[in-house]
Amino acid sequence: MKAVVFQKPNDVRVETVDDPELEQLDDIIRKVTSTAICGSDLHIHNGFIPKIKPMVIGHEFVGVVVEVGAGVKEFRPGDRVVVPFPIACGGYFFCNHDLPDHCENSNENCGPEGGLAKEKGGALFGYTDLYGGYSGGQSEYVRVPYANFSPRKVPDRFTDEQVLFLTDIFPTGFSGVEWAGVKGGETVAVFGCGPVGLMAQRYAWVRGAGKVIGLDREPYRLKMARRSAGSEVINVKETDAVEAIRSMTDGHSADVCIDAVGMEVDRSLLQKAANITHAEAGSISVMRNAFSAVRRGGTVSILGVDGMPDDNFPIGQIFDKGLTLRCGQAPVHCYIDELMTWLDQETIVLDDIITQRLPLADAPQSYEMFNNKEDGCVKVVLNRDGDDSQSHSTR
Ligand SMILES: [Zn+2]
Repeated sequence: MKAVVFQKPNDVRVETVDDPELEQLDDIIRKVTSTAICGSDLHIHNGFIPKIKPMVIGHEFVGVVVEVGAGVKEFRPGDRVVVPFPIACGGYFFCNHDLPDHCENSNENCGPEGGLAKEKGGALFGYTDLYGGYSGGQSEYVRVPYANFSPRKVPDRFTDEQVLFLTDIFPTGFSGVEWAGVKGGETVAVFGCGPVGLMAQRYAWVRGAGKVIGLDREPYRLKMARRSAGSEVINVKETDAVEAIRSMTDGHSADVCIDAVGMEVDRSLLQKAANITHAEAGSISVMRNAFSAVRRGGTVSILGVDGMPDDNFPIGQIFDKGLTLRCGQAPVHCYIDELMTWLDQETIVLDDIITQRLPLADAPQSYEMFNNKEDGCVKVVLNRDGDDSQSHSTR
């Protein structure tokens, strides 16, 4: 089959690799019909994830079941399914405590510590040997383990694109707002107007936020936030983010700040090199702004992936302001069913943030375009080559 293979930093290729096979009784094999490139794929692409060998990447995908293991109860060939990006077994402590992203059974490298290159949480699709080494779904076919726990059937009435973002970016944006306990009337400031930031902004309105502010350095992303999420916006390249948020809230500051940027923001090449070689730990400029722009007693949710330690973490400020800090991967399995019903009720629309639809063969150029923020790129969907039914039911 054809698949997107990460070779080494800045070298992602479409190659022919072996088709996946059933390995466990509860596996399914899926034909992938639509897949998306995520900001966290860029961390791999850009060499920010240590200990990576060549592998098929991608963790946002929708497709059709083509083969089922003997122990699979619910699915049959022909079923369309969507799968959360964390790989979770459903059977042990963390899955039983609504923490599927920490599943201790799916990742050989799982451990309590959370170190830089060992003892991570549960496995993720297409996210390096640190996270289980499972092949991802930017490919024609993918093996999905734990099929009695993870996949969800996609009703025929939905297109692939309507449900594709239930795999990651919508539940992730949702988490940031949910963790902050938004009840109504709050000001929610979202740093980053990429796909996750846009989802968080949209969901903040659903929860009744009184004001939603999107911050970014790219005018086209700010335009998208204004147009598609109805947010007020701040260009952080032109304005001091903290001062702007204070003045937009009559000095009150934001009740909730969400960091939807992660570890690569605004970092010089020298800094990047220093981080990789550990000469200098971390860069948390966005987080710093979030801690400053949030009101006393407020909550900061960190959704952007961070992998590095930091030598100057402002714990004194966090303590003084009495802030609540929430972070981590979204427990997608806990949210996906409810979010699917919202699509039904048209409470939320997800697919209108797609700016490019390209064949899988164009993955290398698509990574470059997304990484360099070219051509107004917010979200790229890769479709199966030569398949014109990709965005609709294939049954
Ligand atoms: Zn993702």
